[in-house]
Parts: sequence; structure tokens; C-alpha cells
Amino acid sequence: MIIDRLQRPLGSLRVSVTDRCNLRCQYCMPERDYVWLPKQSILTFEEITRLVGVFASLGVAKVRLTGGEPLLRHDLPRLTAMLAPMEGVRDLAMTTNGLLLAKQAAPLRQAGLGRVTVSLDTLRPKRMQDLARSDRHVDVLAGIAAARAAGFPLKLNTVVIRGVNDDELVDLIEFARAHDAEVRFIEYMDVGGATGWSAEQVFSQREILEVVSVRYGPIAPVTAGDLSAPAERFRLPDGATFGIVASTTAPFCRSCDRSRLTADGTWFLCLYAERGTDLREPLRRGAGDAELADLITATWRGRTDRGAEERLGLANRAPLFQVEGLRADPHREMHTRGG
Ligand code: SF4
Repeated sequence: MIIDRLQRPLGSLRVSVTDRCNLRCQYCMPERDYVWLPKQSILTFEEITRLVGVFASLGVAKVRLTGGEPLLRHDLPRLTAMLAPMEGVRDLAMTTNGLLLAKQAAPLRQAGLGRVTVSLDTLRPKRMQDLARSDRHVDVLAGIAAARAAGFPLKLNTVVIRGVNDDELVDLIEFARAHDAEVRFIEYMDVGGATGWSAEQVFSQREILEVVSVRYGPIAPVTAGDLSAPAERFRLPDGATFGIVASTTAPFCRSCDRSRLTADGTWFLCLYAERGTDLREPLRRGAGDAELADLITATWRGRTDRGAEERLGLANRAPLFQVEGLRADPHREMHTRGG
């Protein structure tokens, strides 16, 4: 096991397979225009598999495919089939906005994908138009149904924004229950790309718990489970569970074992990190697995990142980057880093 300077193991890897997305969510991609990663810089499936193999040999057991929107990458089941049997990888998952999931859920399951998380910020189609500039709510619902039909354990991610969708918490819990899924409410984060973020719009974990307990009664924390997981889980009196990712008001950096590989092979140790490590250059120059493993090991051993905890201490918290800074380096965007 490789340990960083704060005693955190290198345990999970989020692999972005594309920086493109077919939604324009307010909290992630609110602009009209974006600077994209150059096509020739995007890693091939073989290159991704090679890097994931090196990470797995160093102790990474959890791999999550992300984007942008991962299902925009052509033939994702092929990559899934390359990663699923890899020694050391115990948990292969994907986070998707669901728009293209209806057709791909079954092939992905057959290829060995273990779990799916679908972003679902609202149950109201009109609201999705305002929040994500898309009229395809029906496709997301079809994707969720297909994921269940394919047999995936399913989570739903909801970014809660005050005045936007904070009135849907109970509806989303009930929707998740009806679809045999678990919803996770995520606090609005001031990450790269969230240029419209303001502290006033953060609907906090405390407020979420208040709203839910008014409706259901006393809520108990679920203590068992993966302590490095970002969501705290809670149980309603009737046994249903839900999660909260309180990244903004109660960050969990001290147990963070996650890092992120962008679609062009840049490795980030934190969602808030200023810069990443270029793994594509050594990979394409012909470095062997041992050289790549040494680079990854040395980089992780020097890790001190605790971005969300540091931001918590800021007096006047504001968006992490302005638009000009994001255009100058698209690696700063959350949709490039894989959320
Ligand atoms: S802010 Fe960085 S260190 Fe903290 S939980 Fe997020 S990715 Fe991990």
C-alpha cells in the first residue's frame, strides 16, 4: 500500500474517458463556450488500460469511469471489458448523466461493469431545462430503468442548490426507493467550472437533514461501510437509506484516497489541485511499467492535498477560478477532472 504524507492510501482512481458532455449543468458547465482537450492528446483504451494496470499494481482497487459524460466515448463496453478482469480491481463503477444509458446499460453490464451512479438533479423536466439546458429528462429516466433492468446496483447523485431544487429532497428519496436505488445529496461545490457558485446557494448537510427529518422523523447515521467513501449514509425510521456528500461544509479530506486521471493522461491528486502530473508523456515515450509505477509512487508519497478543508477556512469564499483562468487551462475544469 502506498501512503501519502497524511497517511492516506492510494486506493481509488477516477478515470475520465472524455472531457465532452451533453449537458450544461449550472454547477459544472455554465458557460456557452469551452476549450477542449486536443484530440490527439486523448488516451486510447489501450493506454488507459496500461495506466490503470500500473495503478492497480500499486493498490488501487476501486476504479470509476467518468467524464465529462463517459457514454459519449465511443464503444465504452470495450474499455470496460479490458478493465473488469484486471487483477486488483475489485470495484469497477461509472458515473453518468444517464442520457445515453438506455442503450448501453446491458452491454456495459455484460462487459463487467459493477455499479452505476446516475446524476439526477430534478424530477421535473422543465427544471432540467433551466438547470442543465436539456429537454431530455425522459432519456435519463429511461437510462435509470435500463440500469435496473440490467441488474446494476444503482445510486443517484443530486447536487442540491438553494432556490433551485432544495424542494425536491423528499421526492427524490421516494423516487430512489421506488427504483431500488440510493440517492446521495451533494452540496454545491466551489470547484473549477462552478463560476456561478456562491456560499448563499449551498444547501448544507445540516439543512438537508432538517428537511428530511421533518418529513420522516428521526434519522440515524449508518456507521458500517467504506470509511473512505465520500458520502455519509443515513437511515430513515422506515429503513430506507440515503447519503450526503458534504464536501463544502464538512469536508472529508482526512480519509480521501481518491485521485483523478483526465482523458489526456494528467493525474490529479485532488479536485482542487492547481496542477497535475503528466503520465501521457512517459507513457508515449515508451516508459516501462516500473518507471510509471515509480513516478506514481513518488508523487503520491509527497501528497499533502486537502483542498476542501483549506477552502473551508477562507474568509470570503468565491469560485475557485474565473472563466479566463479556466480557458487558459481546461485541466482546471471539473468536467475535465472527472467530478
Ligand atoms: S478536496 Fe481533495 S483531498 Fe479533499 S476530499 Fe476532495 S479530492 Fe480529496
